[in-house]
Amino acid sequence: MSLLEVINLMVFYENAVAINNVNLSCGKGLITGVFGANSAGKTTLMFTVSGMILDTARKEKMRGGIRITVMGDILFEGRSIMDVEPSRRAHLGIVLCPERRRIFKESTVIENLKIGGIIATKAQARTTLEYVFRIFPALVKLRKREAGFLSGGEQQMLAIGRALMAQPKFLLLDEPLLGLSPVMEEILINAISDVRRAIGLTTMISEQYARPVFPIIDYGYVLENGGVVVEGPAHDLMENPDVKSAYFGLQEE
Ligand code: ATP
Repeated sequence: MSLLEVINLMVFYENAVAINNVNLSCGKGLITGVFGANSAGKTTLMFTVSGMILDTARKEKMRGGIRITVMGDILFEGRSIMDVEPSRRAHLGIVLCPERRRIFKESTVIENLKIGGIIATKAQARTTLEYVFRIFPALVKLRKREAGFLSGGEQQMLAIGRALMAQPKFLLLDEPLLGLSPVMEEILINAISDVRRAIGLTTMISEQYARPVFPIIDYGYVLENGGVVVEGPAHDLMENPDVKSAYFGLQEE
């Protein structure tokens, strides 16, 4: 059963199409990968599902900036969320962990995590905090450190930890591995995989290259110029020669 369904989604920035008739679905408890080059539309898709695009569209309108148009439908647990505000979507369990780790740089690690847990009950926040420290033990000794002083990888751990504190049912991870070393990539991938095993969290993860996330995804979509060009179970994608060379960095033997 799908937890999230995107139907004929179109997003325009003025007259330029950023998401072009996208249909996708994310099965409950599964990890769905969305792959594509720069400007393929990954961030726009994440912003549209989380509802952040509504805020951006409103801000642009107020300052007389660009016109953002969204068409089509997004169903979460079978109901349309197209008109649901982003804060309400977060309460429903749709939580975005944005690209480039937008943490509060002047707050400490523990403060960032507690801010993430604002919509959780006290008991949930306590249990989740323990869990976050278990999957990211490096954060324990950094708990009083200002987030701005953490390394890129530590900041990404914190960003994911903060998103988990919000008790997601559906977690959106926008390019979580961007700019990280292979060692750090592995730590994060193991943590994301642990979260799925431990709490069966449904996740959508976007990356430019599929290779590092391939071992943990169930189903994947490849976006080009805002449209889905290939989709399939992880194994089938890996066998597709086009996908293999462009997104896995592997050549046909
Ligand atoms: P990246 O990996 O660079 O983040 P992406 O796959 O996430 O790329 P998007 O950022 O969603 O792609 O961009 C999709 C298209 O929409 C691009 O052509 C981009 O220039 C355009 N776009 C994105 N945000 C805006 C905006 N605020 N105003 C105008 N055009 C935008």
